[in-house]
This record gives sequence, C-alpha cells and structure tokens, in this order.
Amino acid sequence: MSKIFQYQTEQFADIKILRYQVPGFEELSLSQKELIYYLAEAARCGRDILFDQNNKNNLSIRRTLEAIARSYDGDRESDEFKSFLVYAKRVWFSNGIHHHYSMDKFMPEFSEEYFGELLSNTNYELLPLLEGEDVVGLLTRLVPVLFDEDVDAKRVVLNPELDLIKDSANNYYEGVCEKEAEDFYAKMEKGDPERPISAGLNSKLVKENGELIEKTWKVGGMYSEAIEKIVFWLEKAIPVADSELQRESLVKLVEFYKTGDLKAFDEYSILWVKDLDTHVDVVNGFIEVYGDALAIKGSWESIVNFKDIEATKRAVIISDNAQWFEDHSPVDKRFKKEKVKGVSAKVITVVMLGGDCHPATPIGVNLPNAEWIRKEHGSKSVTIDNITHAYHQSSLKSGMIDEFAYSKEEVARAKEHGYLGGNLHTDLHECLGHGSGQLLPGVGMDALKNYHSTLEEARADLFALYYMMDTKMVDLGLMPCLEVAKAEYDGYIRNGLITQLTRIDLGKEIEESHMRNRQLIAKWVFEKGESDKVIVKVQEEGKTYYVVNDYLKLRTLFGDLLKEVQRIKSEGDFEAGKRLVEDYAVKVDVELHKEVKERFEKLNLAAYAGFINPDYHPVYEEGKIVDVRISYPMDFMEQMLEYGERYSFLPNIN
Ligand code: ZN
Repeated sequence: MSKIFQYQTEQFADIKILRYQVPGFEELSLSQKELIYYLAEAARCGRDILFDQNNKNNLSIRRTLEAIARSYDGDRESDEFKSFLVYAKRVWFSNGIHHHYSMDKFMPEFSEEYFGELLSNTNYELLPLLEGEDVVGLLTRLVPVLFDEDVDAKRVVLNPELDLIKDSANNYYEGVCEKEAEDFYAKMEKGDPERPISAGLNSKLVKENGELIEKTWKVGGMYSEAIEKIVFWLEKAIPVADSELQRESLVKLVEFYKTGDLKAFDEYSILWVKDLDTHVDVVNGFIEVYGDALAIKGSWESIVNFKDIEATKRAVIISDNAQWFEDHSPVDKRFKKEKVKGVSAKVITVVMLGGDCHPATPIGVNLPNAEWIRKEHGSKSVTIDNITHAYHQSSLKSGMIDEFAYSKEEVARAKEHGYLGGNLHTDLHECLGHGSGQLLPGVGMDALKNYHSTLEEARADLFALYYMMDTKMVDLGLMPCLEVAKAEYDGYIRNGLITQLTRIDLGKEIEESHMRNRQLIAKWVFEKGESDKVIVKVQEEGKTYYVVNDYLKLRTLFGDLLKEVQRIKSEGDFEAGKRLVEDYAVKVDVELHKEVKERFEKLNLAAYAGFINPDYHPVYEEGKIVDVRISYPMDFMEQMLEYGERYSFLPNIN
C-alpha cells in the first residue's frame, strides 16, 4: 500500500475518522467490478432501516440535522454552530442519538434555544415535517428526545433490574414488556426443533388493541421502501454473480426480502455458507442481534468484499487444522464437536460497508448466526485486512502503547509482533472460536438471555488466547516464535484491565458485550493467578500497570476459564453465566478508572474509529458498464450528507 495514503482525516468527540484503501481493486475483472458496483449500491440502501431500528426518532432527527447542515444561513463560524456540527457528526457516526458502543444517549453541547434559532434559519422545505406539522410542532416533537437526559436514555438496557425491553430505547418493540416478548417467542412455532427458524429476526413486535403482532420487514411490509431498493440492486447483481452458487444465493436472498419468510433466510444462509469459490462476496441482511437485549432482532448491515488471496493462506492453515484444535481444547469431551464441519476461513478486502457496519466496523465476521446451520453446514469466517491495516497505521504513532505498557521490552514486543498477534487472535476467534463446541440436546440458543453475547464473545476469545501460546502455531508456520503470543497476551491483559476503560465515562459501568467479555477474562485470570503472581499489578509514580509474569501459567488459566464458559453455554447454565458476568465483567474500579482517563486525556486520542467509504463510479458506453473507477473521498460530513440524499427512502416515522 502506498505510503502517502492519508488514513486519518479528522477527530471529534471521542471519535476519529479514517479511510481504508482497496488494494487489488484495479486487477479485478470487469464483471467483478460491475458486481461490486451493484452490491455496493445495495449496501447503502438499507441505511435508513438501521437508523429507525436504533430509535423511532432517529430519522426525523437525522433529517433535521441534515437540513440545518445544508441550509442554515446564520453564522456558520460561531462556536455554537461548531458544537452543532460535532453533534450532527456523532449522530451520523452512531446511526442515531445513542453512542454506538456505550448505547447511552449523548447530549448536544448547544442549548435548546440555539436549536430553535437553527431551525428558524433553515430551509423548512428540507425539514422532516409530519403531515399537518409545522416547524414549532417539529421542535416540540424533537426537543425532549434531544435535550431531556431521561427520555430514551439507553438504546439497549442490559441491567437485569430494569425491563430489558420497555426500558430500551430501540425500535424493535413497541408497547411490549420483557415478559410478554419472551413468552411470545417462547411459544412461537419454529418448525423442525432440530432446525428452528430464527423467530423474530426480521420484524418489530408491537401491541395493537391488546394483541401482540409482528410487523415484518419485507417488500410490502415494514421498511418496504428501502427493501425495494436493496432488491433492485441485488437483482442487477444476479446476472453478473461470481459463481453459480452465488447466483442461487442472491436469488434466495431476494426471495427472503420479498416474502419475509425466515425459512427462505435459512436456505439463503446455507447457500451462502457453501459458496466458497467466489472471489467477490457479500453480507446483506438482518444479521447481528446485539441491538436487542433479548438477542432476537437482527440489525440491518452489509459488507461487500473480495478475497485477499495471500493473507487467506494464513486463515486456511488454521481452518485446515480445525479438528486438531477442537480435539485438543481443554473443554469437557461432552461439549466438543466430534466433527468440526466446514470451518472456512478467509481474509478479505472490504470495498463497501453499510448499515450496522458503517462508519464503525467489525474487523472480523463469522456467519451465519443460526447455531444449527453452523453445526450442519459450517460457517464462513473472515478477517478484514484492509481495515485492520488502516487501524494499525493510524495507531503506531499514537503513544498508547508507550503510555500503558510497563517495560521497554513490552513496548518493543508490541510494536514488532502486535499486528500479527492481533490478526492471529482474530483468525482464531472467528475461524475456530465461535464455531467450536456444541450445546447439549434441548438447550436453546437463548438460554443465557442477556448474558449470551458476552459469554459467546468470551468463549471465542478464550479459544484464541488458549491456542495463541501453543507451539503448534509455530509448527504450522503461523508465527515465527512465541514472542508473537506474548505480545498478544500483554496486549489483551493491558486492554482488558486498563486501556479499554478509556472508552467508558467516569461513574459508568461496562455495558458493551465485547468489552464486558475482555474484562471478564482479564479480571478472572488476574484473580485466579494472584497467589502464583501470574500477572502482577505494579504502581509507579502514580501509574498502574498490569505485567504478565508467567505466560505459560496464564495460558493454563485461559484454558480453565474456556472450559467453564463452554460448560455454561453447553448446559445453558444461566445462573453461573450471570454470576461470571456480574462478578467480573461489569463493575469498574473507580480509582483506576480516574487514573486511566487522566493518562489517556494527555495523549489527546480518540477512543473509537470509523471509516469513510470509497466511492465507485461506473463508466458507461452505449448503456453498458465498461469500467468501474474507485475514488477515496476525504470529507466525512460530505459523505454523510450525500448518503442522506441518495440513499434515504423511508418515512420519517415507521
Ligand atoms: Zn466474536
């Protein structure tokens, strides 16, 4: 990759905006480029859906902010207007008014009065007025949502003392409480008990006239206007599909969008997971369930990508040895898969991110999510190399490692081996971790309820951590020496106990599943290894460090915890899962938190990053695409305004 490519473009609030490069795009065939162009269009057409899923007011708010950003004709250089722009950028970044990671509503740093002044100097034709509503009406409707801290305070509530559904501000349920939702889906007909549909994945559950009904997201149903556009572009993609299986899977996906039939979605997922030969690939649909406290509703997302052939060799070695890893894990024999099926692994280059994968994006994906499909047909596991590369490039000079690593050796090890260690961790987590193990008969996927996501991430991380330090990794040629594993262990403990705290506001607890998982693991191994000094807490000149002292014993502890977490999942032991999460994953040491925040503030860094997508420009000759050119925009706000104009199809309220 070119050295002069500018990765970071700007920083605001706790966010930095990066760009990612797409090496290899020029070398793709014309039909692959054409396919990418169509899929990239489809990837953006569902953006409104995610905004609406995240909160019922999000589309109205986003459109109001866009109208102001476009047409406000007052003083655009004032500090107040600048703080308005920061707020607008945060809403674009989070796909709504709640922080994308903490799920807390973030508050504008301008006043209610100023909001009124902005609106009265904005072209009202651009405003999302409801029928019969005037600007004052819009103001009255939006002000409490923007300025009252208690209104829609949290997108996803995981605190068991609250009602997980009623108190969550997302738009997956309306007029429904936790108990009602649980009962509704417990009773629902799911077909073959061995191969149950993902009931509730693609609908909103509402109470109307005292009765619970599902509003299905499909053509002709809820979100129809956006889904029709997605279907339009998918249908263009079908004739230029990269393989016969891909063609069939896209046809099935269109059928699913048209009918809303979850059986069609499972059939699509099976076709998709079997399709290993395509160079260009796509995720498009209602996929991840992190946005719903009951882990039922799928948020809309898309990732368009092609295979990174060189880097994939690494992942193939891991997946070729999947059975060896499964057989040698410390997990109880009853909970292991006798035969690990079709763990396919590849490294990909992303060309377009959409919905819940944009602007913030995962660095690895393992799909499909349906447990029975994973068991019978395997799963596709990917690591996104051009994204991790962009992160790495932007982090090298940040000063984070130098501040929070204890010794010079630890810093040097992180800089030399940290990138490979991190990538191998992701490969192991995605290719093997999530796909490993099995449930005992009769145990449902939802048995762990609000603790499911955290424990599932912990399971996958522990699998990766356990094998990281295995000489098998060196034997397989995956790493030159175990220094790579040490760098990963250092980094994991440092992150789990210290650096990830930079992302939490003082006084708050840890909510997000991946963060909960990391603290759970790090705190547990620290505590269990305390008498043996496996990890030592050092305090020097007012700075706290956690230093790994005994890497082999640490590995054993990771194995012990893996064994327990797999047992909890396999048996559906809700109580034990709850205890583990509540005891280790949630609470924050207030003193340490303060110290870490102070040290971090001095570095003046953003805790989160997200991306500007490239643009794709078709070149037509006589109505036919003869080439697709790529460009890399620099301006985040410009891209967000463009998306708001070109890819916005839903009504203001859904
Ligand atoms: Zn994961």
